[in-house]
Amino acid sequence: ENIIELKHITKNFDDNFTAVDDFNLEVQRGEFVTFLGPSGCGKTTTLRMIAGFEMPTEGEILLNGKDISKLPPNKRPINTVFQRYALFPHLNIYDNIAFGLKLKKLPKAEIEKKVKKALEMVDLEGFEDRRVQTLSGGQQQRIAIARSLVNEPEILLLDEPLGALDLKMRKEMQLELKGMHERLGITFIYVTHDQEEALTMSDKIVVMSEGRIQQIGTPEDIYNEPKNAFVADFIGESNIFNGIMTGKLKVRFCGAEFECLDDVEHGTQVDVVVRPEDILIVPPEQGAVKGTVISVVFKGVHYEITVQSGKNEIVIQSTKSAKVGDMVGLNVEPDGIHVMPAE
Ligand code: ADP
Ligand code: MG
Repeated sequence: ENIIELKHITKNFDDNFTAVDDFNLEVQRGEFVTFLGPSGCGKTTTLRMIAGFEMPTEGEILLNGKDISKLPPNKRPINTVFQRYALFPHLNIYDNIAFGLKLKKLPKAEIEKKVKKALEMVDLEGFEDRRVQTLSGGQQQRIAIARSLVNEPEILLLDEPLGALDLKMRKEMQLELKGMHERLGITFIYVTHDQEEALTMSDKIVVMSEGRIQQIGTPEDIYNEPKNAFVADFIGESNIFNGIMTGKLKVRFCGAEFECLDDVEHGTQVDVVVRPEDILIVPPEQGAVKGTVISVVFKGVHYEITVQSGKNEIVIQSTKSAKVGDMVGLNVEPDGIHVMPAE
């Protein structure tokens, strides 16, 4: 069952600059959907249209099947958590969370109940009297989320909410947010430019570039079957080679012919994507491709080895090291080769 649908949403800013271009998306109730793309690709603008802070130039937004495109933000059962959580530093936690409810003039007992429940939702029971400054960055962000949950939204929008935290705290909060999403059953629409964050947290990822959707899929889909070179390049480390189809399920790149699983017409110019972890280093005489090791970097769980073969630089992840200057052979299995028509 779709909770929200975006149909042909386009947003032009002045001078006909198109920030979001024909955006189509269906989100199911309870899903964790992430908009992923580089800075400036239109993620925040799309979120702001869902929240109602920005009006689409074209298209419509349906919530539970009804057009909400004309509703003001406070009439939508949707709340947003921003990167700058903007808690009021002079108020305690209770007053921070209760702020909006007091404006709505709800009875005091009801406010108390709602604040207590919101704090339980983010696992910070009993924090009512604490001051903002005594909380860690991660705890402050959880309070900001509690403040959004207190209105019992059907959809929570999160715009790079972990961007201001350091790496360790960000990793912790990723897991906490995912746990929170599973516990609460609310629909989350999450924005990030960090591919690892998107892969870790999402049920569904929407990869965007220059206002347009490049691919929608599960993290596994997006990682294993990128639809085009942009997605392949943006998600994870990739080698991208120019190639040509030389027969049924046969592709030529890096000076050798390989079997592949993607059926593209004979003679087509293609982009060939190969993940560094799918390339095997073998003795030179056993490799489909031969080359010279030009760099070796220790990365903890593996070595990142770069091999020069003709004019191609090929990056490989290997558990075994190699020596700069060595001649090596390289092989790839058919399921490690992803072929897509060149753009
Ligand atoms: P992201 O969140 O992916 O970084 P944004 O949605 O913030 O991207 O912005 C997309 C594009 O739209 C950018 O080029 C940005 O400069 C432009 N933009 C955003 N808001 C406005 C605005 N109010 N007026 C004009 N251009 C804007
Ligand atoms: Mg943004």
